[in-house]
Amino acid sequence: MTHDLDFLADLLPPAQWSVACADRDEYTEDWGRSGGDPDAVVWAESTDDVSRVLAACDDRDILVTPYAAGSGIEGGALATEGGVTLDTSRLDTVGPVRPDDLQIDAGAGAVGSDLEAAAADHGLICPPFPQSAVFSTIGGMVATSASGTRTVKYGEVGDWVLDLEAVLADGTVVETGSRARKSSSGYDLTSLLVGSEGTLGIVTRVTLALAPEPPARRAGKATFETLDDAAAAVSQVVRAGIDVATLELVDPLTARIVSAYVDTDVAPDPSVFVEIHAGSKMSADAEAQRCVTALEDAGGRVELANDPDEMERIWAARRQAADAIKAWDESRTPLTVGDVTVPIGSFPEMVRSIQSIGADHGFDVPAFGHAGDGNVHYAVLVDPDDPDEVARGKEASDRIVERALELKGTSTGEHGVGLGKRGYMKREHGAATVRAMQAVKQALDPNGTLNPRSGLPVPGDAER
Ligand SMILES: Cc1cc2nc3c(=O)[nH]c(=O)nc-3n(C[C@H](O)[C@H](O)[C@H](O)COP(=O)(O)OP(=O)(O)OC[C@H]3O[C@@H](n4cnc5c(N)ncnc54)[C@H](O)[C@@H]3O)c2cc1C
Repeated sequence: MTHDLDFLADLLPPAQWSVACADRDEYTEDWGRSGGDPDAVVWAESTDDVSRVLAACDDRDILVTPYAAGSGIEGGALATEGGVTLDTSRLDTVGPVRPDDLQIDAGAGAVGSDLEAAAADHGLICPPFPQSAVFSTIGGMVATSASGTRTVKYGEVGDWVLDLEAVLADGTVVETGSRARKSSSGYDLTSLLVGSEGTLGIVTRVTLALAPEPPARRAGKATFETLDDAAAAVSQVVRAGIDVATLELVDPLTARIVSAYVDTDVAPDPSVFVEIHAGSKMSADAEAQRCVTALEDAGGRVELANDPDEMERIWAARRQAADAIKAWDESRTPLTVGDVTVPIGSFPEMVRSIQSIGADHGFDVPAFGHAGDGNVHYAVLVDPDDPDEVARGKEASDRIVERALELKGTSTGEHGVGLGKRGYMKREHGAATVRAMQAVKQALDPNGTLNPRSGLPVPGDAER
């Protein structure tokens, strides 16, 4: 142990903190990365707990790293330099729902699907949630600026956050925003905290806007001769202004891997999944028809679902993609599941580039993603026990991100910077902008105790 953590005994009952190896070991990895090494774990049960622990750690120069469900992909929740890992998952209150205002309150540790269930009781939905909402928390989603399959129509999680409560590094509790749908009052600290990955404050409570369940939905799937045709079709559907709620791409390798994982027959074709939400069956049918025409014009064979069960069958495979790739083959594991995102007109070029970079370096690179947003997930598959292969895989991953930046896109559309994307920050934003970000960090966390290894470049980082 590198810190004297006895002060935690004065702040919290024994069931809320631990320095035991078995407990600390639970926090050494997230879904995508490993390397966490906390000296202690704290399970906060109230805003006051968070505030007192942060204030005491800040006084003692002890680092604090927030950790929620650990479904993050870029290692942002890992305490790589020790200190306290502060688990927010017990802050899990759900509600009340205010159906008249289309709003729900939640503790930061509440799991997305619990919010969805509470909203559904009132005929409401949480539209921007990520695929991972079945296990990830609302605090984690806010912190990473998460988004999901329906973002192409409804926007990102951050667009639905009305107000939030957060604790700053020195223990100060702030409330940002209001319950009004819009506001021009003061600096928008809510937006500043969204996507700040636990580096500016620990979110403890959130008010989210909700939407009415759409009265009518249609869903379908189009398969294409080539991946290039599928990617071009996505771009065309968006540019035609077709009101899709979801537009996802799956490449043939991902389809094969998912097929094996869920033990079902997913055709190994380049595929586009689509969903339409509308105010009536007639308008859903009309928009679906526009979409079918656009997809067929682009060379697709389209299969529309006729009922909810069939819709679910069409979707089931896509939902499993990330887990299937991770579990596929121990000797071909993903270096990371990256999430570059580019302007929609450049989407086909981005998908082509991923394939050609994979081929140049001799790697399989399954690709899939929230294509309607210009987002594509890619996983360079390497033998983790072969250091040379891992190094070459990293080169391939770097080239994929560089290509996204050349196309005026971003290194991460939704997973966040964490530890994995720090090295691209200067390249993506420019040195002056990164300095401005560091000044914000310095203003809100002058001692640098709150998750300081995540989100922004640190001395010694290799620039990519
Ligand atoms: C199978 C799978 C599918 C996924 N699909 C999507 C997807 O569709 N879209 C998407 O955007 N992401 C997706 N993800 C990534 C991940 O689920 C999201 O990043 C999610 O928002 C992380 O939430 P979490 O509760 O697990 O947070 P964690 O992983 O525990 O933490 C993530 C980051 O947030 C910080 N943090 C956590 N809680 C707080 C808090 N209360 N206050 C301040 N900082 C905090 C942590 O320090 C860390 O930096 C997927 C992941 C998996 C494994």
